[in-house]
Amino acid sequence: TGGNVVIVGGGVGGATTARYLKLANPDISVTVVEPKSSYHTCFMSNEVLGGERTLEGIEVGYDGLKSMGITMVQDRASGIDPDARTVTTAGGETLNFDRCVVAPGISFVTDGIEGYDEAAQEKIPHAWQAGPQTALLRSQLEAMEDGGLVVIIAPPNPFRCPPGPYERASMIAHYLKAEKPKSKVMILDPKEKFSKQGLFMQAWKDLYGHGTDNSMIEWNTFSKVGAINKLDAAAMTVETDFESFDPAVINYIPPQKAGKIALDADLADDSGWCPVDKMTFESSKHAGVHVIGDAAIATAMPKSGYSANSQGKVTAAAIVAALAGKEMPQPSYVNTCYSIAGTDYGFSVAAVYRYKADDNTIAGVEGAGGLTPVDASPEQRKREVAFAHSWYNNIRKDTWG
Ligand code: FAD
Repeated sequence: TGGNVVIVGGGVGGATTARYLKLANPDISVTVVEPKSSYHTCFMSNEVLGGERTLEGIEVGYDGLKSMGITMVQDRASGIDPDARTVTTAGGETLNFDRCVVAPGISFVTDGIEGYDEAAQEKIPHAWQAGPQTALLRSQLEAMEDGGLVVIIAPPNPFRCPPGPYERASMIAHYLKAEKPKSKVMILDPKEKFSKQGLFMQAWKDLYGHGTDNSMIEWNTFSKVGAINKLDAAAMTVETDFESFDPAVINYIPPQKAGKIALDADLADDSGWCPVDKMTFESSKHAGVHVIGDAAIATAMPKSGYSANSQGKVTAAAIVAALAGKEMPQPSYVNTCYSIAGTDYGFSVAAVYRYKADDNTIAGVEGAGGLTPVDASPEQRKREVAFAHSWYNNIRKDTWG
């Protein structure tokens, strides 16, 4: 055979690696361990919150992977032994590997705020992993009265999808503008600046009255309103150092670290994320185990689905080369993050990256990529929405088949 690869996680990073391993060499035996029977993409989940797409519209199954001869084990990986080269599952299976790929995404830091724990997520959704959490947040938005306040608490860096909280604020405002126009969205942010800030601010001005007394979106930093001290899920209140808010809906997006299995398997460093060789995504801590996607430290690359997809292809190439005893070619990477801020109003940031051997980093290629101009024409903004939707269809197909 061509060797045994076990992949932990059938999300973006894991599924892409599985497909590209099989495309490169069908003789490699590929097994994906994933507890869920289907996956909901986080990308376009803000459109679900905005009422522009259904939850079913962001659901993708595993038949595409299975049709390529990839084995799906519907279970949770509970342990990875890099010396014995085995993955064990909660259901009691032991899977042998020559190479293992770990792509479990993120986990949340839930301590440190009074009143908030995992149980509180049933009333205060994060909706930062799509699926039931997205449905819950959407139902809360649907149930709120006109005139209510939606508070989004953004996470500190680094976190999954840097433009995500601001796209979310936009899509929620999009829904409220049409259905509950007296309502407001307030972002409370530990950061002093955020991804594509100029473009978001321009969008909020163009679409939601930003900069006027009647703005539907307000962005407040912790330096202004104070850090979050208490979240009361029963009373639905938010308390900061200096202020108290009484929202109809609270969307707390907690600080993040690598998915739990990566932490349990000793793949993370003190930062809570996993250091890797930037050429192959092989763990700096355990040989034979690769970590990709949000869980990995990928220097300049943001924690995005497109990054995870790009890293999956590089990792597949690295594993194919390693199993065949060949040298890994010099990789390059790509990422584009589209944001949809309202009707016919989109923009993007794009970058091409190269591996730099001298300091083991992934650095942006100068002159490649860039941002949508702040003064783009309405036609350009509309075209970016079409690009975003076609990117979505393509990345889904490219990742899960
Ligand atoms: P995931 O896709 O989360 O996959 C991890 C998988 O591992 C999951 O299926 C999980 O069930 C599984 N798993 C976890 N633990 C185990 C275990 N122990 N055993 C087995 N399986 C396990 N990115 C973009 O590129 N463009 C966008 O427009 C975009 N929009 C976004 C909007 C929002 C609101 C959010 C929250 C994110 C967005 N992202 C976007 C980011 C993107 O969703 C993530 O970066 C991407 O999903 C990361 O892929 P991953 O493979 O690391 O993790």
